[in-house]
Amino acid sequence: MAHKHSSVLSELGFRYDPSNLYQQVATQVLDAAELLDLPRYLQLILAQPKNELMVHFPVRMDDGSFRLFKGYRVQHNNLLGPYKGGIRYHPDVSLDDIKTLALLMTMKCALVRLPLGGAKGGVQMDPRSVSEGELMRMTRRFTSALGDNIGPDYDIPAPDVGTNAQIMGWIADTYMNITGRQQSYGCAVVTGKPLPFGGSEGREKATGQGLVYVAEVLLPAMGLELNKITYSVIGFGNVGSWTARLLKNRGSTLTAVIDHTGVILNAKGIDAEKLAAYVQRTGGVKGYPEADEASESEFYQHPVDMMVPAALEQMIDKAKAELINCKVLAEGANAPCTPAADRILEDRGIAVLPAILCNSGGVTVSYFEWMQNRQAERWSAERVDQELRLHMHAAADRVTRLAKRVKCDMRTAAYCSAQQHIGEVYQIRGIFP
Ligand code: NAD
Repeated sequence: MAHKHSSVLSELGFRYDPSNLYQQVATQVLDAAELLDLPRYLQLILAQPKNELMVHFPVRMDDGSFRLFKGYRVQHNNLLGPYKGGIRYHPDVSLDDIKTLALLMTMKCALVRLPLGGAKGGVQMDPRSVSEGELMRMTRRFTSALGDNIGPDYDIPAPDVGTNAQIMGWIADTYMNITGRQQSYGCAVVTGKPLPFGGSEGREKATGQGLVYVAEVLLPAMGLELNKITYSVIGFGNVGSWTARLLKNRGSTLTAVIDHTGVILNAKGIDAEKLAAYVQRTGGVKGYPEADEASESEFYQHPVDMMVPAALEQMIDKAKAELINCKVLAEGANAPCTPAADRILEDRGIAVLPAILCNSGGVTVSYFEWMQNRQAERWSAERVDQELRLHMHAAADRVTRLAKRVKCDMRTAAYCSAQQHIGEVYQIRGIFP
């Protein structure tokens, strides 16, 4: 069945393009809004970001030459609180992708009931192709180009694909220097910072940890127990490797991994800790000695209880959805399935735990970090885990109850729950003036 083009997107002047990621995700969000009977003016507001900022800035490279970079910050919505969302460094970064990820951040923060809005940013570049000095100068220049468009009360970036705690540290330092906000609260401009400089316990593993907390409550209803399942992972970066290391502690068995370097398989089990150390050393899973090499189609056909996509958007298309051999797909990555793949998974009876639920642990611990910075407090690792668990269980519960009540899939239910909250707050606040 071809998906209808939302009339809201038509009214906003989008030319129908089923391969466009933004239109794919906005259509799913708007379908959920229709189910909820969300007023049309709210659908129109949510179908476009508030601000789309594009900056071009020069950076001096190590050989003395200058290179011009293109950076983005899209601020989708700040009804619930300051804009919040990661910064990505990747050669394929585009305005459409950043818009999509910003919209998903609005939905994610609303689903978890965080007092935060949604944003996303990025620079079109390959962080692996530059030196550390070049990376630092580019990050600082990007931060100064953003200027007052970010801030601890206004818009708070975080790590995403291709960025890490050190990069967040450079962003905070640059912001504090250029704005004169040298007090500790100035570092709350960004989360995911290194521990000694305002970072939070548990932030690095947070997205994986959140996914495990969601799985521990949702899997038993599907007849699966964490300590008995086999699973495979797409992408072994922050989200993929932490999910795997934490699932190892729960007794789950990792049997297949694919990343940008290759595919590894071992039906007897792959040690996630050893693999993470290997990837840290070599940059990818290819050549890992305690597993066999395999092809991409063997990876997708390999039978597991749970598959965790944790790489980039739109990785699972129609053809891959037909090959997949799992009972549950727990989305660590944002928008990993195309709508055509979604329909095939549904027809085949494969349950999908949606990204805005499964990977919301990252932004939740970012929220804890931001609170700690503002209150000049430091939480223990146990407290972070405990609070995260409560937030993830409550969000998972909201989604399951709505899915039952509205009789829809979990992705639609997650978007419904998020927009129910947003709709309620718009109702109270009204539209200015
Ligand atoms: P990362 O850069 O640490 O890892 C990305 C991984 O994707 C790498 O292992 C890379 O090898 C793999 N990859 C890239 N191209 C691939 C390909 N063609 N085939 C297979 N694998 C490929 O990024 P991350 O922070 O782990 O983010 C992964 C996903 O999770 C993204 O969608 C991101 O937006 C989302 N996410 C991240 C966080 C976070 O806190 N880091 C939070 C929420 C959501």
